Amino acid sequence: MTNNDSQNYMMPEGSQRNNGRNAQRMNILAAKLVAEAIRTTLGPKGMDKMLVDSLGEVIVTNDGVTILREMDVEHPAAKMIIEVAKTQEEEVGDGTTTAVILAGELLKKAEELLDKKIHPTVISKGYKLAAIKAIEILNKISEDVDETSLRKICETAMTGKGSEDAKEHLSKIILEAVKLIDKNEDPRETIFIEKKTGASISESKLIKGIILDKEKTHGSMPKTIQNAKIALIESPIEIKSTETDSKISITDPERIQQFLDMEEKMIKNIVLKIISSGANVVICQKGIDELAQHYLQKAGIYACRRVKKSDMSKLSKATGAKSVTDIQEITKEDLGEAGLVHEVKVGEDFMTYIENCQTSKLSTILVRGSTSHIVDEAGRAIEDALGDLTATLKNNKVVAGAAATEMILSKSLAEYSEELSGREQLAVKAYSESLEIIPKTLAENAGLDPIDVLTELKANQSKIKWAGIDVYTGKVIDSWKEGIIEPLNVKTQAITSSTDVANMILRIDDVILAETNKESKNIDE
Ligand code: ADP
Ligand code: MG
Repeated sequence: MTNNDSQNYMMPEGSQRNNGRNAQRMNILAAKLVAEAIRTTLGPKGMDKMLVDSLGEVIVTNDGVTILREMDVEHPAAKMIIEVAKTQEEEVGDGTTTAVILAGELLKKAEELLDKKIHPTVISKGYKLAAIKAIEILNKISEDVDETSLRKICETAMTGKGSEDAKEHLSKIILEAVKLIDKNEDPRETIFIEKKTGASISESKLIKGIILDKEKTHGSMPKTIQNAKIALIESPIEIKSTETDSKISITDPERIQQFLDMEEKMIKNIVLKIISSGANVVICQKGIDELAQHYLQKAGIYACRRVKKSDMSKLSKATGAKSVTDIQEITKEDLGEAGLVHEVKVGEDFMTYIENCQTSKLSTILVRGSTSHIVDEAGRAIEDALGDLTATLKNNKVVAGAAATEMILSKSLAEYSEELSGREQLAVKAYSESLEIIPKTLAENAGLDPIDVLTELKANQSKIKWAGIDVYTGKVIDSWKEGIIEPLNVKTQAITSSTDVANMILRIDDVILAETNKESKNIDE
């Protein structure tokens, strides 16, 4: 019996095992396939993907992480690559496609080294050295941010997305929003996006507050409330329906009237409680009974019902209101404040704007577009831009894009590899070459010849610090002067996460798959 056989005896029946060279190659192949699948979306001339999920829902997007999230992959190594995109998205909010493509290329180059009988741990050590060096170089070449570069960062983030035509308008809005919030606040937690179809993207705008996709519940309620005192109520403002709870049979007509009167009185009492707290705006997470609406309206209160839980917590943060579950307990102290609450007609619908909030300067970008696909994709582009701004504001450092940064890294790492000896040198060299996948892919996606572009870039590197590629003409440009600017953090994160996952996959030499669907099989039997 071989060693392997004896090991397999220890595994439960039905599990599968793939080890040694075989496991490694299968993992690398799976990772490369994922990278290949999203390569065509990179950069301003990248194409969009149409994703159709199992329920027939359609998403049209150019956003790497969105595509990967929707892809239904089974292979464990492919899943690890998708994790890279998610980490990249969470940490810095952009550069997901870049990170995945780079990881795929690092593995492809590693495969060539494996063919030359270089041990995976040596490759992985070389890759680690290269990544450390790359981050050192990135810090050295990065530039300080200023007002113009902040705007350019937004525009670069939105280049190549469906909303590209409106990128200047949207960037202006985004920067305005960022200026409103405190320096130490995360733009992604203080600037919200609300989407509404029925107008062009250029009609998108910034609201200094929160937008609820809700109208007031009753036509006779006031349309506008100045100096709003806002009650946030989590429980329904109604008497629990007797139908769903318990059945009581009343046969005597007089008793029925008594019962109805009692219900009316209870509702009235609840509303009186709210009124006596001093609230003039009621935001309820659940339903509001018709009778309650009537009493609220009579008291001149503006009310919305069935408001999303996430909106409730935004409102609480913005206005300082405390959510109330037991209306009997509501007091003045629970109320939040806002300068203005009003109902606004947006397209065909009415929305509620809560502006000039007291506690926190939250704002909302109202994204418009002619169809829901356009609005959704514009929303994702704005999220990317917000992510890039967040990443930039962490250290105020930026680099230039259009492959300029990757080319500098590639060149410097090639030089660095000369200082090393033996097999590690080969691994660092392979890392340096892997970075060329970014200019190559940008060129290919623009219908340009990748080899020509690469040669041109290399020839100009000594003359222009940020030599990048103009994807529209194929010529070399000064990416900095052209305003193609990206956060330093996006690039450092892409290096770190792609290196980590490539190394992790390289070091696996055994894949043990437990038998899946065991239960369903039993049911079939
Ligand atoms: P990611 O998910 O990696 O952010 P994108 O599709 O957003 O992928 O593409 C980002 C890449 O496109 C970066 O390498 C960036 O430098 C490049 N890029 C952005 N704008 C331009 C431009 N105007 N010309 C050339 N390259 C650009
Ligand atoms: Mg991007």
